[in-house]
Amino acid sequence: VTKIGVLTSGGDSPGMNAAIRAVVRTGLYNNLEVFGITRGYMGMIDDDIVPMHSRSVANIIQRGGTILKSARCKEFYEFEGRKKAYENLRKHGIEGLVVIGGDGSFRGAQKFATEFDIPCIGLPGTIDKDMAGTDFTIGFDTAVNTAVEAIDKIRDTADAHDRLFIIEVMGRDSGYIALHSGIATGAENILIPEAKTNIEDLIASLEDKQRRKKLVNLIVVAEGDEFGGAEEVAKVVRQRLPDMDTRVCILGHIQRGGSPSCIDRLVASRLGYAAVEALMEGRHNVMIGIINNKLHYTPLDLAVKAKQKIDKEWLKIVKILAS
Ligand code: ADP
Repeated sequence: VTKIGVLTSGGDSPGMNAAIRAVVRTGLYNNLEVFGITRGYMGMIDDDIVPMHSRSVANIIQRGGTILKSARCKEFYEFEGRKKAYENLRKHGIEGLVVIGGDGSFRGAQKFATEFDIPCIGLPGTIDKDMAGTDFTIGFDTAVNTAVEAIDKIRDTADAHDRLFIIEVMGRDSGYIALHSGIATGAENILIPEAKTNIEDLIASLEDKQRRKKLVNLIVVAEGDEFGGAEEVAKVVRQRLPDMDTRVCILGHIQRGGSPSCIDRLVASRLGYAAVEALMEGRHNVMIGIINNKLHYTPLDLAVKAKQKIDKEWLKIVKILAS
């Protein structure tokens, strides 16, 4: 390959800029031409494709968001849209693509790469962490640290007033942010989509704590838990325990933003470098991850099927440590 493109697609995550920078600089180092494609697959269809230089990615390693912008793109679900995207890539002579995004973006890349002769390399960029084939996803570490910092602050005020706070963190189908931030902040309970919650047990443990005058309580809920988020859990708790001063806090989009953590910058830099190497070695249609500190290549079609499993033993640990 002599010309490659890079894009960020789907939900954004902190560290995407560090990955873009690594792709651009590694490509230029190897005398490739590197094109930045804006707004994910939209940019391929609308021909928003610009040459990147070393200076185009200066001063971005520490910035959240993505300088290439991200988007969801309806047209890319249709063959006609993907064909138009292909024609635009051809026009620029682009022979390989680096897609930084989540499993939806990889589903699109997989389809595109099997229909047209453009090898695609996927880099896992998502705050949800739930992708198989990697121990790290770009953005998770930052997001979970943001959640921890916020929950610590909530604990201070919860403690001052003896309140129960039910805190909602992001994760529509993934409980990783909830699990990790909940453990790290000493939550009494953690509700995640991957595990069934016995509401009677939850109420009984809160009643027990009320009796023991252990009044500070934090419950961390993933937005996609079976009750449908923190507000719904609070409704049940208020109904059953009207004496408890129960408050809800939804952390929301602060979890997506902010300066990426050191780990996210390292992972993004290593994966961005590896993506260019992979294209030069003639690899195609794989997601690159890191397992046990080694690069790991998972075919895109497998990467979109498998989910990283949560170790349920953590939930037991939460119960024991919060008692
Ligand atoms: P994420 O990558 O964060 O999971 P999405 O699921 O929104 O985000 O996917 C991002 C984009 O990838 C979609 O807007 C669409 O353009 C493309 N895409 C997702 N799934 C498919 C698919 N099955 N076929 C074609 N394109 C897809």
